[in-house]
Amino acid sequence: MDCQTALEYLDCVRPDSDDLDLPEMADARAHLDSCDACQEAFAKNQSFDRAVIGVVLQVDVPEQLRAVLLEASLQLASPSELASHPEVVKAVAGESVDGSAGKATTGASRSRRRSLSIVIAAACALMLAAGVWLRQSQPEQFTEADLLKRLPLDLSSTAEFDAGFEFRLPATWAGSRRLRVSREFRGIDLDDAAGHDAAVAIFSYSPARNAPINGILAAIPASRVQPLPNSVSFTQADSQYIEKDGRRPVVAVWQERNTVYVCLVLGSAADLEQIQRNLSVSAA
Ligand SMILES: [Zn+2]
Repeated sequence: MDCQTALEYLDCVRPDSDDLDLPEMADARAHLDSCDACQEAFAKNQSFDRAVIGVVLQVDVPEQLRAVLLEASLQLASPSELASHPEVVKAVAGESVDGSAGKATTGASRSRRRSLSIVIAAACALMLAAGVWLRQSQPEQFTEADLLKRLPLDLSSTAEFDAGFEFRLPATWAGSRRLRVSREFRGIDLDDAAGHDAAVAIFSYSPARNAPINGILAAIPASRVQPLPNSVSFTQADSQYIEKDGRRPVVAVWQERNTVYVCLVLGSAADLEQIQRNLSVSAA
């Protein structure tokens, strides 16, 4: 038997199987024992096949692509490998897995390996693209300090909120006569990606006596904030003074449902606490 014929036979041997012991492999086996070049080529092909099976069974690839890959590689996998991945076998509808798979004719196996190489190359390119896409689409997360630093006091240069996420008022903010929240929400871009990351609205609270207390309510999806604030309601949120644009506004930060809110008051902690008290009463 010459090298080419031997290799065509050996192409049908699935990695980590006993296909080589089959009677029809006797001639190829005999050639392999005596030919260093074929031993090297055979080892290379086997490790390629093993790598393919490993990639297809383990790597997280899109479902449709996985099906294509599996169809192409199923014939390479040994029955024991398939048995340890029943979900994968099930995914390839109609494919025989009783061990008769893999005994392709020698003529077909060579072109099968070649087309498999192309499929694998395409899959790798696709996974690479998916990885890049995933990195780019993974939105940046902000700490509370980041958020407070980036929220502007002056909203005059902001654009109308693009409604990239749902902006709902906090639960207790709707029922108070003394609290007026601007109907016009403005959008804030916190990262370099397109689209607004936070929505802000101006509010004004009118105490029974004294001048109105003005402030800004900001909302950002909770998925964009890490770590999340401890407070889960406005009335329980601690107030803190921050430095901003040469002023010292006071803020409260809390999470409600899937939104993190920042209430910023251009006044004192006592002003903010007065609003918190009023809203806790009106909500009760
Ligand atoms: Zn040879």
